[in-house]
Amino acid sequence: MSKKTLAELANTPSPCDDYDPNSMAVNQARATIKAYLNPVKETESLEIRSSLGRILAEDIISPFNVPGHNNSAMDGYAFNSADVEQSGSTTLKITGSAFAGNPLTGSVQKGACIRIMTGAAVPAGVDTVIAQERVSADADSITFTDSIKPGMNVRLAGEDLSTGQVVLKQGHLMHAADLGLIASLGIPDVKVYRKLRVSFFSTGDELTSLGQTLEDGQIYDSNRYTLFGMLTRLGVEAQDLGAIPDNPELLEKTLATAAQHSDVILTSGGVSVGEADYMKQLLQKLGQVLFWKIAMKPGRPLAFGKIGDAHYFGLPGNPVAVMVTFYQFVREALLILMGQDAPAMQPLMNAVCVSPIKKAKGRTEFQRGILFLAESGHWQVKTTGNQSSGVLSSMSAANCFIVLDEETGNIEAGATVKVQLLDGVI
Ligand code: AMP
Ligand code: MG
Repeated sequence: MSKKTLAELANTPSPCDDYDPNSMAVNQARATIKAYLNPVKETESLEIRSSLGRILAEDIISPFNVPGHNNSAMDGYAFNSADVEQSGSTTLKITGSAFAGNPLTGSVQKGACIRIMTGAAVPAGVDTVIAQERVSADADSITFTDSIKPGMNVRLAGEDLSTGQVVLKQGHLMHAADLGLIASLGIPDVKVYRKLRVSFFSTGDELTSLGQTLEDGQIYDSNRYTLFGMLTRLGVEAQDLGAIPDNPELLEKTLATAAQHSDVILTSGGVSVGEADYMKQLLQKLGQVLFWKIAMKPGRPLAFGKIGDAHYFGLPGNPVAVMVTFYQFVREALLILMGQDAPAMQPLMNAVCVSPIKKAKGRTEFQRGILFLAESGHWQVKTTGNQSSGVLSSMSAANCFIVLDEETGNIEAGATVKVQLLDGVI
């Protein structure tokens, strides 16, 4: 990766060392964006439940062993394996009991056993538990013929976590299991990075906001709603700055204000060839912004850079292109800016495509797809039909992208393709 500053890149005709002025590969754009991100540094302390979806700003270290003591994995009887004869049947006297939260008082004599329940502490001098289903028991003793493996059915102290172990690392995105894990350590609060502030607005003279009457040639602004949804699912502090007409003064004012109180500014529209010129001049006056043509469909135009200290993404105007570029570039960048250490790209899985697809080589296509379980028991995928980048209904119908890379040409029905699931992405 080039070590040039973004300012240098913005001012050179060839923004990257291996930049193709006509189009940039998807992966190259991703890598360039990643090299120019400054994650938030400020932190706050939260009660663990409030940390769901946030990024840890500290390592969580286990203050003790989990479990804290050897304990039984079964309802049964505990004894010392050395007391058991391995041939024929064994009879042991029952001399006490241990329940979860109610341990045995005293010790277990040689040749004796105790009744023990799942989770109960295994007392000193005892190393093995036999499940109750494997013995015949009366009030005073048990008899069994099973051969014994010393240590069986006993969960050892520290086998989950040991004292001093780093349980979760700084930069970890908190999931439901993590809340329980931290609670199991008796830790009530955690330090996380503060929420990322993301401002967004739409651009276009044709846009009408909800609540207003549509005039001739006008459309309702839908991008602000999909952006709101995607940003909210990601857990950022999203601020909607409205629909701004293609008016340089208004746009400049909105961008300048947003830059003062946002970590990230997202806009939609106004970055495509032909339309971009004044937006380009404006953005380059206010900050350092690169205008890319990405070798992808949909989502070809993309602007990226900085306005003041705020990161800037200029997304295309077409409603589907907004979502595709958000998922392919912005989502990962925002996770990094939120403090997440190396967020994983959405995994790709294989599926048999039942629709033929026309595809030109030389660009990556993200076709809207429906992944379904066929009667054969295999996962198959079909396209949602019309793939025009303005057809938002097909994005709504989709549960995945069919990802066709630059080398891929036309797809015959029955071919295996890569799909990227949308469910649970953010
Ligand atoms: P642009 O990138 O500004 O040239 O816009 C490309 C297409 O997307 C045009 O058909 C616009 O009308 C449409 N578009 C732009 N912004 C929005 C928006 N916020 N909501 C719905 N459609 C939009
Ligand atoms: Mg426009």
